Amino acid sequence: MGIFLKDINLKGKTALITGATKGIGRGTAIAIAEAGGNVIAIGRNQTELNTLKKEIKKYKVKYLPFNCDVNDYNRMKSFITKLKQLDILVNNAGTNIPEPFLNVKKSSMETLLNVNTKAVFNVAQIFANQIIKLKRKSGSIINISSIFGLVAGQKRTVYSMTKFGVEGLTKGMALDLAKYNIRVNSVCPNIVLTPRTKKYFADKKYNKYVKDNTPINKVVTVSDVATSITFLASEAASMITGTSIVIDGGWTAK
Ligand code: NAP
Repeated sequence: MGIFLKDINLKGKTALITGATKGIGRGTAIAIAEAGGNVIAIGRNQTELNTLKKEIKKYKVKYLPFNCDVNDYNRMKSFITKLKQLDILVNNAGTNIPEPFLNVKKSSMETLLNVNTKAVFNVAQIFANQIIKLKRKSGSIINISSIFGLVAGQKRTVYSMTKFGVEGLTKGMALDLAKYNIRVNSVCPNIVLTPRTKKYFADKKYNKYVKDNTPINKVVTVSDVATSITFLASEAASMITGTSIVIDGGWTAK
């Protein structure tokens, strides 16, 4: 094989993906398996973890599901520190509760800070310590951020606060982990059609709002995001760290 394609595969690598049961996480688990990588899937829905197994097995890679809330620090740590093969972390589990700034509930603030920021930090820290202990020659962490980690959006003050935090965390971790050849990047998608956003896209006005804000007049798909994540996970991205791939059809270029 020539220069371009030889490193775009994940053969022999193992990826841990949080929030792998639905949407972007599920699509990424399948993309990673398609690229030859083994999949460790974290989620809270056992039925969906079992369904994903059937998809992953088609690619003849290993599949290990773990039913766990990413906020459960002790269970996550106890699981990850027992893993013997680990190279890639896709820090994807996250959510949004759109509320106008003046009416943000304390409970929404707690939920979003916990899952979108604190768990992202905690899981990355446990993962990085483990792959250093395992003496892996390289590692890749991909944090799933958002265009709302780069620009503002209405009813998204708390979501933006958490995703801007993820952007800062990504850059800081990239500096601290470079000496271990662990790369840390984020992806920043615009609004993607997933189980979480399906209800919004059901509204024609919402569809129009998304397309009108996207110079490439299309909605971002799970596949668009999973492809960039798989690239960042691979050795083809071996000199890329501390940055973001923005998958927004030009939303933030305006
Ligand atoms: P989704 O369809 O709602 O899926 C979320 C996934 O995260 C599910 O697999 C869910 O698993 C898991 N999850 C949520 N909280 C969890 C927890 N506490 N512990 C373990 N797993 C948990 O969401 P999505 O739209 O694919 O979003 C995934 C990521 O992309 C999020 O970080 C989100 O902020 C980001 N993002 C999404 C969009 C978008 O428009 N969809 C755009 C930009 C960025 P269980 O249900 O099994 O627990």
